[in-house]
Amino acid sequence: MSKLTTGAATSGTHYDAVIIGAGFSGLGMLHHLNELGMRSRVFEAASGVGGTWFWNRYPGARTDSEFYYYSFSFSREVREEWKWSERYPAQPEVLRYLEFVAQKLDLNKDIAFNTKISRAQFDEDANLWHVTTDQGETYTARYLISGMGVLSTPSVPNIKGVQSFKGSIYQTATWPKEGVDLTGKRVGLIGVGASGVQIVPVIAPVVKDLFVFQRTPNYVVASSNYAVDDEWMTQIRANYDDIHKQATAHGFAVPFAKPSVGAKDVSAQERERVFEAGWKEGGFHFMLETFNDLATNEESNAYASDFIRQKIRETVKDPLKAELLCPKDYPFNGKRPPGGHGYYETFNRDNVHLVDIRPNGIDEITATGVRVGDQHVELDVLIFATGFDAMTGALTRIDIVGRDGLVLRDKWKDGLKTNMGLAVNGFPNFFMILGPQTPYANLPVAIQEAVGWVSRAVAFAETNGIACMESSVEAENAWAHEVHRAGSATIMAQGGAAHAWFLGANIPGKAREFNVYMGGADVYFKQCTEIAENGFVGFHEAALAPAG
Ligand code: NAP
Repeated sequence: MSKLTTGAATSGTHYDAVIIGAGFSGLGMLHHLNELGMRSRVFEAASGVGGTWFWNRYPGARTDSEFYYYSFSFSREVREEWKWSERYPAQPEVLRYLEFVAQKLDLNKDIAFNTKISRAQFDEDANLWHVTTDQGETYTARYLISGMGVLSTPSVPNIKGVQSFKGSIYQTATWPKEGVDLTGKRVGLIGVGASGVQIVPVIAPVVKDLFVFQRTPNYVVASSNYAVDDEWMTQIRANYDDIHKQATAHGFAVPFAKPSVGAKDVSAQERERVFEAGWKEGGFHFMLETFNDLATNEESNAYASDFIRQKIRETVKDPLKAELLCPKDYPFNGKRPPGGHGYYETFNRDNVHLVDIRPNGIDEITATGVRVGDQHVELDVLIFATGFDAMTGALTRIDIVGRDGLVLRDKWKDGLKTNMGLAVNGFPNFFMILGPQTPYANLPVAIQEAVGWVSRAVAFAETNGIACMESSVEAENAWAHEVHRAGSATIMAQGGAAHAWFLGANIPGKAREFNVYMGGADVYFKQCTEIAENGFVGFHEAALAPAG
């Protein structure tokens, strides 16, 4: 391995590894490779670190997971010095945290900002990746690692007439850094996923009128946010290792207790008590700490869905609005449930209007607003909170060209094939942090596991003189089969109305299949560890001859 050096990227430079993206994944990966003594370069399209937390600056953006498992635990320095202020940290705080991580771990010197990678091509003769930026600069690297994120390619539907709108248009996923003054404006919001649900209560008191265009209502679970006091922070600091260990032993990579009974197996009274306690605790605790069969048993899921609908009806005073806000034609968990911070309560305001656009959506955007059937809504501002081309969006938008000229997006045209979501046959020495077919789980924990695993794989290759780490065809066929099996065992693909991103169903023309592994992050982490301990079986049999 070459010695770590610092300095600006100069076209033509060779690195041990090129990493794309400087969010949680890219920063974690860079740190681990630095620890191996490798010379790496991160290329980042934004002007700073943060990834998702750099771009998603919309009002109300905050984590849906609690701070103590929505962070890295591998750095003693970082965890002992950083203090979180809220149970669910807001976007500016998560961004400051990642900036702190980069500064503490001395990562900025190895990151080229404002630089997009447009192409990466594997050179089979030299066993090198040739990487090209959008400025035409080229670099070579032995390893290419994607840290581009799973929900990082915004999807904006091409609604008829959108170009004719004379007002201002914003996307939650690319919210202007300088902010937007919505005071006294007539604002239309399209999209009520996790992003839309967060922005509604924050902008409602500021705007003149807010029109929420809803196609599919969500099961929004109350979050219950509050400040982190010194005592809590001290207790968390003392237990970071245990928290991480507990999270990696959980199906969703959260340090939660695992419920031992199903909702259908207890009395109605007990069910109500447990659901109520979970609701009060808030957020993912309702989904994950109440009963063990909400994602797998229809009857139990129906109890949870009924409970949430009841909460909506109790909260929203106008019965017509309440009924429109109740999801009815797909199960709880059929979409990723957003965390709410006064979402349903906001619909009791006189200036918040719910526009039902089912089933056909918005008919037209005009110069002055939005038309749905006979109704024309006059607007000054239109906000798109319409989601992302998840899991594969970033990876298929640049030309990643492997062996024999095979382009990654073409490889996946007829169905996803990866080895544990980490590597792909035909793409030697290419790793993905959270590629498609990785677990549906709390991401920072999954990322920490993935960057640890990839750095072990790289160290294994370097130590054993393996020129190419490359997934075998057999291993990725087996993984595709397992991803399908695990997904089919859940009820999460049910409900035609649920255009869930984890099924690729929110993007017109995208193949409908599980883009994530539903068999449990704990099972997945265990399998990854076994693979590593068994000499990375399945990850280098397809390799070229070992380096001489
Ligand atoms: P999303 O959950 O995919 O929601 C997109 C919304 O846009 C849906 O309501 C969708 O309606 C609507 N939509 C899309 N195309 C439309 C069209 N042509 N006309 C009308 N409505 C349209 O996207 P998201 O809210 O950005 O969240 C995506 C994921 O990002 C979340 O599930 C979560 O994993 C992550 N996220 C996390 C946080 C957090 O943790 N705090 C915050 C934001 C996002 P349909 O449902 O009818 O398709």
